[in-house]
Amino acid sequence: MTVLALIEHDRGRLVPAALESLTFGRQLADRIGTELEAVTIGSTADGLAAHLGEFGAATVHQAHHELLADFSADGWADSVVTLIGTGNPHAVVASGTDRGNEVLAHVAARLDAPFVANVLPTGLETGADRNSPWHLTRVRWGGSLHERAVLHADVKLMTAALHRVDAERADTPGPATPAPFLPVLEERAAITIVRDRVERTAGVTLATASVVVGGGRGVGSPEGFAPLEDLAQLLGGVVGCSRAVTNNGWRNHTDQVGQTGTRISADVYFACGISGAIQHWVGASGAKCIIAINTDPGANIVTKADYAVIGDLHEVVPAIADEIRRRRD
Ligand SMILES: Cc1cc2nc3c(=O)[nH]c(=O)nc-3n(C[C@H](O)[C@H](O)[C@H](O)COP(=O)(O)OP(=O)(O)OC[C@H]3O[C@@H](n4cnc5c(N)ncnc54)[C@H](O)[C@@H]3O)c2cc1C
Repeated sequence: MTVLALIEHDRGRLVPAALESLTFGRQLADRIGTELEAVTIGSTADGLAAHLGEFGAATVHQAHHELLADFSADGWADSVVTLIGTGNPHAVVASGTDRGNEVLAHVAARLDAPFVANVLPTGLETGADRNSPWHLTRVRWGGSLHERAVLHADVKLMTAALHRVDAERADTPGPATPAPFLPVLEERAAITIVRDRVERTAGVTLATASVVVGGGRGVGSPEGFAPLEDLAQLLGGVVGCSRAVTNNGWRNHTDQVGQTGTRISADVYFACGISGAIQHWVGASGAKCIIAINTDPGANIVTKADYAVIGDLHEVVPAIADEIRRRRD
């Protein structure tokens, strides 16, 4: 009986959320008095094993198959199902990312089992034995609603809500014994095969930037983003935007923050001329500090932000940049 953490990576590069969900899995394993194991899919991830051990993984299962050179929801799900069949874990935890949720949804469908997405570390009751139902709290609607759920299942499938657990090394690192295995892949695993990839962004990305300067409809035009670009560059960050901006064709969709864009995890997010609609908040709420700049003191984002400047962004944003320059000189 173990807790199995599915480790999300991209061709061997860990996604930051993977260590959050591994830490979540370790807390779960400690709580129910069992071992933490991890699974990586594809041989490109074999080199991660020792690092995963630092976070408490006793064993790192490594799915090897020629069809697993790149991500495929079907291939990854089949690999997890193979492992559930042989190892019978008590729970399987993945990251509450699009990929993590997609893979576990496939696993749940194959096992005809329930799956709880975006679980919080708080309010979790695991019960006395394996058959006891678990009581969980999960995040819905981008964090504006917490839902209590009761999970009845032999193997508890769940993803950890993003940015709700800090990735922390274990006090007692696991040995991280590598355990390669050949997963049983269904034919459908070969439906999508990635043959080539072209990187569309270089350097800091919206998802990983420590500073994001976001602009909304209030920016007014594509040219209006110049002061935001300037501020972002000064702080080593990137520019993001709301969907109103991409809908207007002012910026590419790759810059969009939100439910149908990117979920950021910045240390600081400047939300300039953005009202803070729930779909935007879904992507912005992972930021550790939100500074809203808005002419409307009643705007949703102003009421939720850590700090707010009530004023015209066209004056406030250049003034912030000027002050940073003045202090650096
Ligand atoms: C299915 C679905 C998915 C969606 N996904 C997303 C998503 O991923 N991301 C997203 O952002 N939205 C998304 N939306 C759209 C969302 O509902 C909002 O319409 C959108 O976020 C609004 O963008 P905005 O805040 O820039 O514009 P507005 O709501 O029009 O707000 C503009 C703000 O700018 C302020 N302002 C105006 N002029 C100035 C000025 N000179 N200085 C300072 N402030 C000023 C105003 O006071 C106002 O608060 C989605 C909607 C749906 C239905």
